Amino acid sequence: MFEKILIANRGEIALRIQRACRALGIKTVAVHSEADAEAKYVKLADESVCIGPAAATHSYLNVPAIISAAEVTDAEAIHPGYGFLSENADFAERVEKSGFVFIGPRPETIRLMGDKVSAKNAMKKAGVPCVPGSDGALPEDIDEIKRIVREIGYPVIIKAAGGGGGRGMRVVHTEAALSNAIIVTRNEAQTAFGNPVVYAEKFLENPRHIEFQLLVDEYGNAVHLGERDCSMQRRHQKILEEAPAPGIPEKLRDKIGERCAEACRRIKYRGVGTFEFLYENNEFYFIEMNTRLQVEHPVTEAVTGIDLVQAQINVAAGIVLPVKQKDIVMKGHAIECRINAEDAYKLTPSAGRITQYHAPGGPGVRVDSHIYQNYMVPPYYDSMIGKIITYGDTREQAIARMRIALSEMVITGIKTNIPLHRDLLNDASFLRGGASIHYLEQKLALHN
Ligand code: ADP
Repeated sequence: MFEKILIANRGEIALRIQRACRALGIKTVAVHSEADAEAKYVKLADESVCIGPAAATHSYLNVPAIISAAEVTDAEAIHPGYGFLSENADFAERVEKSGFVFIGPRPETIRLMGDKVSAKNAMKKAGVPCVPGSDGALPEDIDEIKRIVREIGYPVIIKAAGGGGGRGMRVVHTEAALSNAIIVTRNEAQTAFGNPVVYAEKFLENPRHIEFQLLVDEYGNAVHLGERDCSMQRRHQKILEEAPAPGIPEKLRDKIGERCAEACRRIKYRGVGTFEFLYENNEFYFIEMNTRLQVEHPVTEAVTGIDLVQAQINVAAGIVLPVKQKDIVMKGHAIECRINAEDAYKLTPSAGRITQYHAPGGPGVRVDSHIYQNYMVPPYYDSMIGKIITYGDTREQAIARMRIALSEMVITGIKTNIPLHRDLLNDASFLRGGASIHYLEQKLALHN
């Protein structure tokens, strides 16, 4: 096992990883920007290194600074968390070439899955059902494109092969709008991701977003840990997740989960990973794979009893997966609410000092957050400041516990989206379960 791990991230996930390291008896190095110097999790780490000024491009994305920090502290492995460099194949490669262990998949796997066109091709070959669309990149010739899209059938969504974070996508309803949409998306993709390649997919009108969690060791032992429903999104960003997804037949779960596990064996995956699907009319359609730990991993931990961060570290240390598929049992129900420093309905970010903080607790309540009273939420990073996860024997119990947790939680000094979560936890559609990815946007539109 490693003696010391460098955590190349910030905020709640840096603290989450630190806790996993402590549980395994591993020392931690926190790297931080000047803006995060006073954060408590930085002080709690065994060692800390400042890697640059506030702007992420100069700190959390500063590869040479992170590698040097690992060198000077004599860390053996680097955990990238999520976001920042976590899905950057070049970073993973640099880490390994510098003699450290990258806690994540092999660089070539990250590269393969980071290009959505090659990812879809690999998945199709492995028997994972995909959204129907252009087989690969769209060609240059517009008449040829029109022919391909006609065959798929309108509406379609034009997506950038290198896209991420909900960017580089455009829905097209008619042939008249097609050519312009292609040009704009290509330009955007070139500017944002340095890759102008686009492809087309059937635009599903009312799908749910359901994703499968996978855990794989170095030696090709792969298990799936069931699914999460992440349909509650605004601006293509998730805010509430649950496991299991309401109403998914067990047989279908087993079948899709096994397909994902088989795909992992084929592409020599290693570590934790997520297969994202759209789900409509009882069918799953693969859209992309995330080759890292996800924000919403705790709901899976709650229903399977597996600590995913510890598992990730064990796998990176070359330990054989101690569980087989038959050992994985999903029990009960878990919900996660992402707490964001933002106006609940206008969604504008709200940085600043937290003047009062009171965290909820009690049976089945977990809070993953790095904030505390007097903590200054910096304006430079993602607005998420923590997560509440509740667990119950049933979905109803998990919901009831979440309602109480949300009513107990106090954060003053900044605006948060807690009011929106309180509202959602009493929303008839949410309570029924199975709302589509458009539901929350429609609800917010009514409110604003
Ligand atoms: P990103 O990598 O930017 O997150 P994804 O491919 O995961 O992009 O898509 C993000 C979101 O866009 C999905 O969760 C879904 O809401 C929407 N979306 C993507 N593809 C489709 C599609 N074919 N039909 C309908 N909605 C889609």
